[in-house]
Amino acid sequence: MSKTLRLTEKWMRRGLWLVAIVFAGFLIGLGGTLVGDLPKVEKQLSLDDFMDRAASTALRNGIKNADRAAQEADDALAQAQLKRQVAQADTRAARETFNNWLATRRATQLSDQDAELLARTRALDALKDRERTAGAAVEVEQQAALDARQRAAHERRRLAEMEQAAQQALNAERRRVELRVFLYRLALTLPLLVLAGWLLMKKRKTTWWPFVWGFIFFALFAFFVELVPYLPSYGGYVRYVVGIVVTVLVGRQAIVSLNRYLERQKLAEQLPDAQRREELSYDTALARLSKGVCPGCERPVDLKNPEIDFCPHCGIGLFDHCQACSRRKSAFAKFCHACGASGERPRLPPATVGGPA
Ligand SMILES: [Zn+2]
Ligand SMILES: [Zn+2]
Repeated sequence: MSKTLRLTEKWMRRGLWLVAIVFAGFLIGLGGTLVGDLPKVEKQLSLDDFMDRAASTALRNGIKNADRAAQEADDALAQAQLKRQVAQADTRAARETFNNWLATRRATQLSDQDAELLARTRALDALKDRERTAGAAVEVEQQAALDARQRAAHERRRLAEMEQAAQQALNAERRRVELRVFLYRLALTLPLLVLAGWLLMKKRKTTWWPFVWGFIFFALFAFFVELVPYLPSYGGYVRYVVGIVVTVLVGRQAIVSLNRYLERQKLAEQLPDAQRREELSYDTALARLSKGVCPGCERPVDLKNPEIDFCPHCGIGLFDHCQACSRRKSAFAKFCHACGASGERPRLPPATVGGPA
């Protein structure tokens, strides 16, 4: 068709397609912003929302206290161990002195030193006692540290169990939220697609076609491209199923129109020549002629052959002779290319036929 359009019209038409694309672009931008803002409708969930707050706080405090107690027990243990070491060293030293003294006493055999023997033995026993006490203190601190550690481990296990249960609840809730957000988006974009389909069927040839096409592009983009990053795992099904439905509808429409066109064409080819010529628009006829096909039946004809005046397929007149100058000219031309006389014979009275000779 574009070959026969007036130059300005051609450029205007391109400009209008640009308008359609720009319109679609702005709509897509607006839609994208809207869809992107949707998750803010839902509040962000965290693990704490699914745990008994009092219980979890108690557990966390318990862990903190047990950790602190373990640390304190460790410190005390270090002190106690040091004390025990001192006591052990003292005992060792005292025993050595005692043994030396004993050896000397055996050598000298002095029986008046029995009282001192008793005193020294008692002193040694006292040191031994002190060592044992220090050892007991060490054991107490070891026990305390172990208790605190086990308590902390126990509390940690309980907290982990609680968190695991909460995590499951959180995951389930996230899936629900995901589904809800997806449904919001579907509820926004699917009607757009339906509206676009209606516009495509009913309004694509109206004066406002650039806006119609802009809207159709936008609706397709919004549904098949913009929805994708927000699709849950099963969202693909929705997209493909809708895609299949849309394709089937469009395909069905195309098949129906093709059959209707063939039907119309068959009927048209049975009409008388003049009526068929009248029903063809000037632009359509020129467009078909420029492609080397018959304007009536759209089958190829050799238009360059000066012998051919009628379509051999449907019989429509392709060339006739000017009534003013009798030159052979296209039957669809409005004016004679040789003398400028109007070519629309049947509708014009002979008086007006004529022109600048
Ligand atoms: Zn034909
Ligand atoms: Zn003429």
